[in-house]
Order: sequence, then structure tokens, then C-alpha cells
Amino acid sequence: MEHINPAIVNRIDTRSSRPCDFCREFDPRFLERSTPDQMVATGRRHTASAHLTENGYVRHRVLEISRITSRRAPSTAA
Ligand SMILES: [Zn+2]
Repeated sequence: MEHINPAIVNRIDTRSSRPCDFCREFDPRFLERSTPDQMVATGRRHTASAHLTENGYVRHRVLEISRITSRRAPSTAA
């Protein structure tokens, strides 16, 4: 079971990371995330796996899945 230690998160160097463009564009609650949860590693594409935290990864995946779902079945989008 993966677990991200808060002490490790606190060591994240913000100079080597940046906010995820994908999440910033598609997550209306992006700014409610803690900073580490917004960040992806610099030099990587803005994908879920580039996120620095497990929570960021999950939020990114949820956004991707919800977009796919809404494209396939727009009538079910709440
Ligand atoms: Zn993201």
C-alpha cells in the first residue's frame, strides 16, 4: 500500500515542479488543493503519473475519466 509521508512532501522543491496545466484547466477546485497536490515534476508531461503526490495523481485521473465519460455519454453528466 502506497503512502506518502508528509515529511517527504514537505521536502518537495518547488523549483523542480510546477502546477499541472491539465488540472488547472479542468479542475474547478484546483486552487483548493494543497500546493504539493497541484504540482507535477518539471520536464515531464502533465500526466497523472507526473504528479508529485498520490492525491494529485488521483485527482488528475478522476478528471481524465470524467472527461472521457462525459464525451461518451453526455446525457448522464450531472
Ligand atoms: Zn494534473
